This record gives sequence, structure tokens and C-alpha cells, in this order.
Amino acid sequence: MTAFSEILGQEKARDFLKHAILRDKIPHAYLFTGIPGIGKTCAARALAMTVNCLEPIDGEGCGHCLSCRRFKDGNFPDFFCIKPDGKNIKIDQIRELNRKLGFAPVLGKYRVYVISRAQTMTIEAANAFLKILEEPPPQNILILNTTELLDLLPTIVSRCQRVSFQPLPVKGITDWLVKKKGVDVEKAGILARLSNGSLGWALDMYESDFLQRRKEWLSQLISLPALPKTGAVEMAFKYADEHKKKGPDDSGQWQANAMDILTVWQSWYRDLLLLKAGAGDHLIINFDFISKLKKMTEGIKNKGLINSILLIDQSQQELHRMRNVPLLMENTVLQLQRLNHG
Ligand SMILES: [Zn+2]
Repeated sequence: MTAFSEILGQEKARDFLKHAILRDKIPHAYLFTGIPGIGKTCAARALAMTVNCLEPIDGEGCGHCLSCRRFKDGNFPDFFCIKPDGKNIKIDQIRELNRKLGFAPVLGKYRVYVISRAQTMTIEAANAFLKILEEPPPQNILILNTTELLDLLPTIVSRCQRVSFQPLPVKGITDWLVKKKGVDVEKAGILARLSNGSLGWALDMYESDFLQRRKEWLSQLISLPALPKTGAVEMAFKYADEHKKKGPDDSGQWQANAMDILTVWQSWYRDLLLLKAGAGDHLIINFDFISKLKKMTEGIKNKGLINSILLIDQSQQELHRMRNVPLLMENTVLQLQRLNHG
């Protein structure tokens, strides 16, 4: 996507960016904030195409000039995106950026640099970047993308024009999946509700076997309270074992997988708690399981549900801290059984 009009939602951010372009008052550095998958990089691309377009129309690239055509073909020479090299954006990447900024743009009026997941900059990289922001060379626009302002040095934040991007509404994501990807309405609705407002995540789930795996994780969670102790231990081992199957090279992937499992399980307890409190069906995430959920609310105690949500929250935090994943999953399963047994 390279046009502002193609971005789903985010009217406020789009209008703000287009307004600056139309008045020719473009700052040298932007800071785009918001969860991943809601259009930050798309907006950066739209901005880069528009400011370099030879005949822009109402704050949008024309799509036909040499610059726009090269942009759309993905070979525009003055657009760059820096991503973490491994877990972090390292100082060498910022040094390389600094070196490039010293030259005039090759083809366009502006060179645009997007720094994705800027919060992953090492402290050395962040300090080097700060130096660049203090004396930015002309004809360059730097765009930092991050989830939270708090994750960045305040001295960096204060030197950027902030633009905030909001999570997308369930209906917007549902309609987009139906129209653009031909997903059937019910499936699109489930993906949209599970996505926490991130179109990118909804798409990732759609394009993988996520929904199938989610069904398995939920069925196992549903059966857990009634299992005898030995059955619960068996299930705990199963979730711990998936790690071994994938091998140590895939530890990052397994960590993401464990996070997905915990998120799905937490959504289940959240749904039960909401239904018990008399919430309407439209607020339920796992609404393809609605009759099962309603049946389960009978005879289940709020205390167990709340403690299950807190337990999973704790496990997710431990996961962020890169604790022993198999042990963590094993413990979580056993504790969930204890909290919801009988
Ligand atoms: Zn153009």
C-alpha cells in the first residue's frame, strides 16, 4: 500500500500528515506510535511517495509520474526501512544511516528513512540517533515507529513530531477481510475480535493455521478442569514438549507460539467473566464457542476466573523475560487446573 486513501481507518493521523504536506511544513523527524499492524509503515510509505511525487493531487502521490512508478514497483532509491538486526537495532545500523544522510537524495526531493520498532535500539544506537536528530541534514525525513512513547529516550521523543495511530475497530477489520481477502463473514469476525485491533495480526492469523490451532488449544482448556491429576500432568507435559520438538534454533518462534496459546486462553476466561457479568454477545471474543461458554458459566466461580486471568498475565510477563518456556507452560497448565477444578 502506498496511498493514504488505502490505509484502513486512522483518519486523524492521515489528515494530520496530509495537512503538513499540503502546507509544505514537513518536520525532519516523525514519531509514529501505536501497536503493530495498524498502518504506521503504510503511512510512512504514503508520505514518502507523496513528498517525492512530481504532480501530487490533494496530498496524495499521483501514482503515474516516474517517482511514483518507481515507488510502486519497490525500487525507489530514496526510501529505506531499518529493522532490528536480531533483537536490537544496533549502532552500526545507525552509523550506516548517518553516512547515507550526508549525500543528497538520488532521485527524489526527500530521502525517507523508517526506523521500525525503534524501541529496540541499543543505548549506543539511541545516543547516536539522538546526535543525528540534533543536527539533521536537510532533504531527509526520519520516521520512528514504536508501540509506546515510554520505550524511547525522552530526548529523542521531544525532537520528533508525534503522530498516534489507534487500534482498529472490530467492524473495520471484519469488513476489510471480507472485501479484500474474500474471508467469510463469521471467520472474519473471529479474526477481527482476536486481533486486538491489529489488521496485521488478523492477516497473519488468517494466512497461517492459527484458527485451527486455536480450536485445539481451547478444546484442551475446556477439558482441563474435569481431568484427573494424571491427565492434567500429561497435558502439562504436552505443552512443555512442543518446545523440544522444534529444537533450540526455533526458541524465538516457540516463545511466540507460547504467547499465542496464553493469549487465547486468557480471552476464554475473559469471555466467561463477561458473560457471568451479563455482558452482551457482541463483546465476546470467542463467539464461535458461545453456546459452550454460556453452558460453562453455570456453576463456575468468579474467583477462579479472575485468578486464572491473573495467572496467565503473570506467565506472559515471565515469557517476556525469556524464562524457561517449557517449565513455564507446564506450571501454567497445572495451576489453571487447580484454580478451576470442581
Ligand atoms: Zn507522482
